[in-house]
Amino acid sequence: MSEKKIAVLGSTGSIGTQTLEVVRQNPGKLKVTALSAGKNTTLMEKQIREFKPQLAVMGDEDAAADLRSRIADLDGIKVLSGMEGNLEMASDPGSDVLVTAIVGMIGIRPTIAAIEAGKDIALANKETLVCAGHIIMPLAASKGVKILPVDSEHSAIFQSLQGSPKERISRIILTCSGGPFRGMKADQLKDKTPEDALKHPNWNMGKKITIDSATLVNKGLEVMEASHLFGVECDRICVTIHPQSVLHSAVEYVDGALIGQMGTPDMKLPINYALFYPDRMPLDSPKLDLFGTGALTFEKPDTETFRGLALALDAARKGGTMPTVFNAANEEAVAKFLDHRIGFLEIYDEIEKAMNGCRFIENPTVSEILETEVLARELAGK
Ligand code: NDP
Repeated sequence: MSEKKIAVLGSTGSIGTQTLEVVRQNPGKLKVTALSAGKNTTLMEKQIREFKPQLAVMGDEDAAADLRSRIADLDGIKVLSGMEGNLEMASDPGSDVLVTAIVGMIGIRPTIAAIEAGKDIALANKETLVCAGHIIMPLAASKGVKILPVDSEHSAIFQSLQGSPKERISRIILTCSGGPFRGMKADQLKDKTPEDALKHPNWNMGKKITIDSATLVNKGLEVMEASHLFGVECDRICVTIHPQSVLHSAVEYVDGALIGQMGTPDMKLPINYALFYPDRMPLDSPKLDLFGTGALTFEKPDTETFRGLALALDAARKGGTMPTVFNAANEEAVAKFLDHRIGFLEIYDEIEKAMNGCRFIENPTVSEILETEVLARELAGK
């Protein structure tokens, strides 16, 4: 097996650091050629000293200058900054795969640049497909590039599709832990703080996605992501609350067979699968103990209380710029909630306000998506 060269966009975050753990476990099989992060120069410096990439990118010029001075004793590492740096990294011919472990719509342009440069994408950054899936998926097909899902549910679906024709999918079962507030009603949710919402029962993730899991907005984004990835309309994607997070998602075929992937809640498995697809490599991680697992339960989601999922499905059915409006308003609202500026349930109000007030474009270009993002953030903020 030849060494696969990977670039990691967002290397200091939850997915980024777990990607590097997978690299650490595979010397001689995976090589890091480029890393990028926002502001965390301390961790970036450590990662550079360990993985020795040729290129590093920081979110802005101040952080890049700080990084340059920290690694002044190292030769041959180019340090860039901002979107220009991320775009150069994405299209750099030194890597075979771009891992999109960045959070938010900022991932759209680098993902497109990497596809245009003919690289496979190990895609964690779901916001990219939610907002620009209608551009990304056909572009990837035309360039012969693979979009390999890293999101655990989408990886489970992808794994469940191996060897079976996509045309024979009847439904997708998208599982959801229900988050820390499962079973609660609006009067119990209204006073929940960011600290309460950040206590996810099963997964240890970045802050934004953890809040999205508590509101069920994350599941709505995942419905849109799955719809683009697998070419299945959102009404055939059945969100199922499964608090144990053992079945990571499943595909129901036309003959009634339900094929799913089970495992421990560990993102390294889907990352490992995406990086070695179609092969499988050993992973030094706890394995699922079926005897210790206990009962597996499945429930319908409460979309009246957790309105984020219902709003997401509305946005998905409408299509065009509506998923962008939904996503951008949510990003804005989550940032305010984390900052204690709005309450938990107001996240839904801000999304709804933006969805009701924003202009609509049926088949938006990347520039129109990015313009809509700005408008939706303003509307959510009003
Ligand atoms: P984190 O918040 O943990 O990490 C985000 C990363 O993006 C950090 O490395 C951050 O750097 C970096 N970043 C921020 N701004 C820039 C910039 N301008 N240029 C380059 N990098 C930047 O997020 P997660 O890892 O949780 O999530 C990443 C994506 O993966 C999201 O789209 C999420 O929905 C998806 N995902 C995450 C899962 C998880 O388990 N965490 C599971 C499934 C999907 P810095 O540290 O310096 O701020």
